[in-house]
Amino acid sequence: MALNNYSYKVSYRDIKYPRVELKTGKLLFVLPFGYRPNIIYGRNKSWIYKKINFIEECLTKAESKELIERSKEEFEKLIYNAVKEIIDDLKIEINHIYFRKMKTKWASLSSFKNLTVNRFMKYLPKYLIDYIIFHELVHVIERKHNNRFWEIVEERCKNYRKLEKELFEYWFKVSDKRSI
Ligand SMILES: [Zn+2]
Repeated sequence: MALNNYSYKVSYRDIKYPRVELKTGKLLFVLPFGYRPNIIYGRNKSWIYKKINFIEECLTKAESKELIERSKEEFEKLIYNAVKEIIDDLKIEINHIYFRKMKTKWASLSSFKNLTVNRFMKYLPKYLIDYIIFHELVHVIERKHNNRFWEIVEERCKNYRKLEKELFEYWFKVSDKRSI
């Protein structure tokens, strides 16, 4: 698999170090101004190939995934129930739940404890919706993805790594819906 056969985008920004992002499922090289993309391939080739392999694997797995059709009401009810259960369980509070169509993430939690849910989550199986909500609400306790965060996640959800990967696969599947 050659990199030049693979579609990627380059974005120049006012940053110090180059990085690679995969948020939308497409490779995005974020480079400091004046940086030539071919340098990044040379230095980080094996890492980039690993990422590409990961995407390809997710794309293949995404093919066999089934998306679930839910009404808006059904979906929102599911979210409210999941949130209630988890805030009781974690003994935390949140302010608001917002529903939005988002292009780069399944959900997010603001520092004001507002939970924003991506409407495209409605296509996911319930266990993944539950996991996303749980993941976001653990951020009320720990904002960063540090060891403490993952320890809390693992206490209740032993197979979180598998679920995170599966969410990646679904992200590709749902991407098809987003472009319609
Ligand atoms: Zn998180």
